[in-house]
Amino acid sequence: MFDFSQIDKTWTLFLDRDGVVNYELPGTYVRNWNEFIFYPHTQENIQFFNSRFQRLILATNQRGVTRGIMSLEDLEDIHVHMIKSIEEKGGRIDRIYYCLDGDPSSPCRKPNPGMAHQAARDFPEIQLTKSLMVGNNMSDMGFGKNAGMKTIFLKTTSPDLNLPHPDIDLYFNNLDELAEALKKS
Ligand SMILES: [Mg+2]
Repeated sequence: MFDFSQIDKTWTLFLDRDGVVNYELPGTYVRNWNEFIFYPHTQENIQFFNSRFQRLILATNQRGVTRGIMSLEDLEDIHVHMIKSIEEKGGRIDRIYYCLDGDPSSPCRKPNPGMAHQAARDFPEIQLTKSLMVGNNMSDMGFGKNAGMKTIFLKTTSPDLNLPHPDIDLYFNNLDELAEALKKS
């Protein structure tokens, strides 16, 4: 049984983006900064996570670029603004990994663990067995498990998911509740 008492500053936090950091748009993609809306307290929560984890990594599937729904420039522009807003509140994201591929066999497309392995290569101090993956889809949970991480499911977009589930170690309603629980541990 996994609980927060095992977490110390040698751990890394992996976050999915849409449905975790910001509101997902039903049936479509967040195509530009105007459509990107943070969940309440996200920036403050990221600052708090920075105090508890050695690294904070974002790993997001963004096949909307490959499908021509948005450009790579749009995606990078969103991330520039997102990072600026987080840094203005004193928070830090160490690296954003995004997968543009739509093919399920692509190594980078979650639930495949390519982005986690890339992060572990880029940051040798990251230990995937001492990492948490937080997401709102089962592909995020599969990604975490395929990389050897602990997984936390946020029920933001699937409030009725049948839980518990073998791929899910812990679950919360949203990132705010995860931060509150971690503060109490
Ligand atoms: Mg998501």
